[in-house]
Amino acid sequence: MSLIVQKFGGSSVANAEKLRNVAGIITDTYKAGNDVVVVVSAQGDTTDELIEKAKEVNPSPSKREMDVLLSVGEQISISLLAMTIENMGFPVISLTGWQVGLKTDSNYGNARISKFTNDRLRNEILKKNIVIVAGFQGINKYDDITTLGRGGSDTSAVALATALKADLCQIYTDVDGVYTSDPRKIPTAKKLDEITFDEMLELASLGAQVLHNRSVEMAKKHNIELEVLSSLERKPGTKVKEVVKMEKMLVRGVAVDKDIAKVAVIGLPDKPGIAFKMFSLLAQKKVNVDVILQSVGRENTKDISFTVNKDNLDLAVSVINDNLDVFGATKVVTKDKISKVSLVGAGMQSNPGIAAKMFEALADANINISMITTSEIKVSVIIDEAESDKAARVIHDAFFNI
Ligand code: ASP
Ligand code: MG
Repeated sequence: MSLIVQKFGGSSVANAEKLRNVAGIITDTYKAGNDVVVVVSAQGDTTDELIEKAKEVNPSPSKREMDVLLSVGEQISISLLAMTIENMGFPVISLTGWQVGLKTDSNYGNARISKFTNDRLRNEILKKNIVIVAGFQGINKYDDITTLGRGGSDTSAVALATALKADLCQIYTDVDGVYTSDPRKIPTAKKLDEITFDEMLELASLGAQVLHNRSVEMAKKHNIELEVLSSLERKPGTKVKEVVKMEKMLVRGVAVDKDIAKVAVIGLPDKPGIAFKMFSLLAQKKVNVDVILQSVGRENTKDISFTVNKDNLDLAVSVINDNLDVFGATKVVTKDKISKVSLVGAGMQSNPGIAAKMFEALADANINISMITTSEIKVSVIIDEAESDKAARVIHDAFFNI
């Protein structure tokens, strides 16, 4: 007998038929003799619709009230799913975030889980109930409702799995696993049987968007094995875990991130301390900087370019513009039609030539690279956004269609 945590995303519980389907998966797992704890997201587009409703009455509502509103979506799902299971004759109970003791900090809209007291949850499991828990929501020290950020139900599921020392945490979604690239854009993308936490983190942050990043970080920290699988087909998905069979796979996937922009600061004096001043000011304003490139300019000057998330572009530019004198720069230039294309794989660190092969694929396709960055498990290039899908395709072809 095992304790299994199953999480179902919004598309998997979108209507009565889908709820019955999901109830079938849950009750089959229960019938096989397992304890089952389920985490659900809001149905279909509910969260987006709630955000729209808020905008109709207030263009900039407080984050606290937004959380009161958005948490409702998950509460609808847990009650409907519990009723569906009840109707099938199984013992079931639904619980909200606060009922299971999921405590968070007070960063409304993007709260972090701080503590988890799960006595209620354990009691319900001991009573042999199937427990359905609302994802995405928690409660802070003022007893206010908080939410964990978009896509946060994955993180709720991993938090529950960690606290309960679950044997497995299954994340059911509308795709049947993690692919070597986005299968909607690259038809030759292959489903992976296994992937490491680190590879998944890179693919998630680089735009593969299958799992909430924080859920993978937490699963890695507590070594909780995850499985990403489809709620529509009963077949194995992709296992996300610490060590995977390497086989001949040096690289695991190609990801595209279009949500980035480039800032170039021109004509900086070429002397020590300039980069320090600039990036510490940006850090103070909580601007997350990704790729950085410094190049030599004319007459003892240098240029520094860096990329940020598109959401942070205006803030980054105003920080630099407000301090042009401090840095001694002449001007700031920005570009937002750029993308980051990355090749990811834990096998890279011990294999030379991978970056060269990636650049060759781009050269053959006549795609110009504006910045390059590497780590042990990835090589990323910054290129024109218009060429990013093509770039992903030619890189994918070079590594996966041999
Ligand atoms: N319902 C929330 C969202 O749409 C949380 C989730 O789905 O995980 O982002
Ligand atoms: Mg999701």
